Amino acid sequence: MFSRRMQNLTPYVPGEQPRDRSYIKLNTNENPYPPSPQIRAFLNEFDFDALKRYPDPLSNDLRNQIAAKYGVRPEQTFVGNGSDEVLAFAFYAFFDSHDGNLLFPRFSYSFYPVYCDFFGIRYHKIDLNSDFSIDVCRFSDADESCGIIFPNPNAPTGILLSLDKIVGLLDDYSSDRVVVIDEAYIDFGGASAVNLIDTYSNLLIVRTFSKSMCLAGARLGFAMGAAPLISALFSVKDSFNSYPVNMLTQKIGAIAMSDDAWLQSATAKIIAGREYLTSELRKSGWNVLPSGANFIMAGKIGLSGEEIYLRLKDKGILVRYFDIDGLKDFVRITIGTDDELKILLHKLPSA
Ligand code: PMP
Repeated sequence: MFSRRMQNLTPYVPGEQPRDRSYIKLNTNENPYPPSPQIRAFLNEFDFDALKRYPDPLSNDLRNQIAAKYGVRPEQTFVGNGSDEVLAFAFYAFFDSHDGNLLFPRFSYSFYPVYCDFFGIRYHKIDLNSDFSIDVCRFSDADESCGIIFPNPNAPTGILLSLDKIVGLLDDYSSDRVVVIDEAYIDFGGASAVNLIDTYSNLLIVRTFSKSMCLAGARLGFAMGAAPLISALFSVKDSFNSYPVNMLTQKIGAIAMSDDAWLQSATAKIIAGREYLTSELRKSGWNVLPSGANFIMAGKIGLSGEEIYLRLKDKGILVRYFDIDGLKDFVRITIGTDDELKILLHKLPSA
């Protein structure tokens, strides 16, 4: 009954969403705060009759809004059903094993190898420095490659790569191979590379509404890059699904994008929570990697990541651990509300 393609699939496993009891959920990097209140007003007034029509296949209003916010042109923007879909389209459009391996960091977003297997793209993982930071020279020094992708800040380490290092990488790397920077977490204090898209026509920035915009449930992601890259993404989309972004999500996304004051205050709360949690954990002897994201990687000598995860789960708190050599001593903790972080600190296991 099943195709050979199907038999070879190794799907991505998302963080657990258990329903057996109520947990403090610090395991999937969602935002604990509600989205812009202007969205509630829109939903209350939404004309439900409108649902009988298909949405705009080009998502023009939303893309105009994105273009205005980031100072790019609408034809330099693309939107999709979550940034996972945008990433999948980018893998299909730009990475081809005939040209070499796709390069990404050894510890990185675990969906990348899944897309590679799905689209038949060979890949090579680039080792990180001993402090888990990315060494851009290792990308430009690698053998024949068909492109580069990395999150900035990286996930799950949370470590930021500076703009000057990114410029160095783009200067050294082949200008006819695409470099994708997955900026899912950049709003939590990092410097975006979006201003470089006019200079580097091989640079694609991918973003999401799931984290800083508190809209994981709406499923909305976007990309910004030179117009030829964007039109390639449209060709992939239009060979797959004309309407991946529904009409409610298009509107909700445009509202969130225009409500700058709310975005600033929501991200400031997360950054303050991250700094508070980091310093409290360090005071209690935990090793915490420096994070520019809405999560931290933390570990305690004498406890494995799995033990920390299990002991916190038992106390009603979900975090994420990784059964991967090099990361087994850590758990990834999403920044929750101040109250959630206080409860977490109170219930931390000791070695
Ligand atoms: N990129 C990275 C680095 C992520 O951690 C995530 C969230 N799992 C995504 C992309 C996908 O986010 P979404 O599909 O919700 O936009």
